[in-house]
Amino acid sequence: MPRPKLAVWKRACCDGCQLTLLDCQDELLAMAAEIDIAHFAEASSAEAAGPYDISLVEGSVSTPQDAERIQRIRDQSQTLITIGACATAGGIQALRNFADVAEFTAAVYARPEYVRTLATSTAIADHVPVDFELRGCPIDRRQLVELISALLAGRKPHIPAHSVCYECKQRGNTCVMVAHGTPCLGPVTQAGCGAICPSFSRGCYGCFGPVAAPNTASLVPQLLQLGMTSDGVERVFSTFNVAATGFSAASRGHRADGEPAASPEDAADSGGPACGTHRPRM
Ligand code: SF4
Ligand code: SF4
Ligand code: SF4
Repeated sequence: MPRPKLAVWKRACCDGCQLTLLDCQDELLAMAAEIDIAHFAEASSAEAAGPYDISLVEGSVSTPQDAERIQRIRDQSQTLITIGACATAGGIQALRNFADVAEFTAAVYARPEYVRTLATSTAIADHVPVDFELRGCPIDRRQLVELISALLAGRKPHIPAHSVCYECKQRGNTCVMVAHGTPCLGPVTQAGCGAICPSFSRGCYGCFGPVAAPNTASLVPQLLQLGMTSDGVERVFSTFNVAATGFSAASRGHRADGEPAASPEDAADSGGPACGTHRPRM
C-alpha cells in the first residue's frame, strides 16, 4: 500500500506555523513512517508531484498569485487543512481590510508601484472549500499531531470547541480578570493553547480567534470597567484575528459617541492576535 502523501504549502505569512510542524520532532519522525512528505519547502527541497492526500496550508490570500495558486492546491488535494490565524482569518495583515492598502504600501515601501497586492488579506476558506481549520498564532503542536493522527486513522479529530476559560479552569488557574483586574479575552477565545497566558498571570489576547458565537457584547463593557479605553478595546481585538467573524465587530465598534476613530497606525501598533471563523467540515 502506498503511504498517504502530505504536502505543506505557504501563502502570505511569517512561516511560524510551519515551524510548529518542524518543532514536532519525535512525532514528525514517527509520522514520516506513516506518510510520504511530498512537499514541504521549509524542511526539504525534494518535491513529489500531486495529487496529495493531505495538504496543510499556512498563510492568507494576499496577492493575485496567492488567489490563483490556492485554486491549484485545492484541485490537487483530497483533504485541505488550513493552519494558523493567517490561513483561517487573514492574519495580522488583514488590518488592511479596514484601511486603504495604497496608503499602507506607500508608507512601508520606497517604490510602492512595484508591489502587487490585493486590497484585502483573506482566509483560505473565502476562496476554496476547506476540510478543517486549525487555529492559533502559531498553531498548537499537540493539536496538529492529533489532527494528522486522526486523519491517518480515519477518525474524527479531538479538537475542543470551548473557550480558553474552560482550559484555564482545568489547569486550576486563579482568574486574572477577577482576582487582579487584568483584561482577558479568554471568555471569547477558542481553546487549544492550554490557557498559556493566564497560567503566567497574563490576560489572553485572543490569538486562537473567536470561539463559536463569542459574547463580546458582555465582555467589552467588562474590559472598559477594568480601565481599558475604547481605543484599547479596539486594539486588543485588532490583532491576528482582526478580520475573523466574531472579533471584527469588536475591533471596529464599541466606541463612545464623539470619540475619534483609531487611525490605521494605531491599529497596526496594537500588536495582538485575532483568528477566523471555525469552519470544520470533518
Ligand atoms: S498564524 Fe501566526 S505564526 Fe502562523 S504563519 Fe500566521 S503570523 Fe505566523
Ligand atoms: S483568567 Fe481569563 S481565561 Fe482564565 S478564567 Fe479568567 S477570564 Fe477566563
Ligand atoms: S493569547 Fe490566549 S489563545 Fe493565545 S496563547 Fe495566550 S491564552 Fe492562548
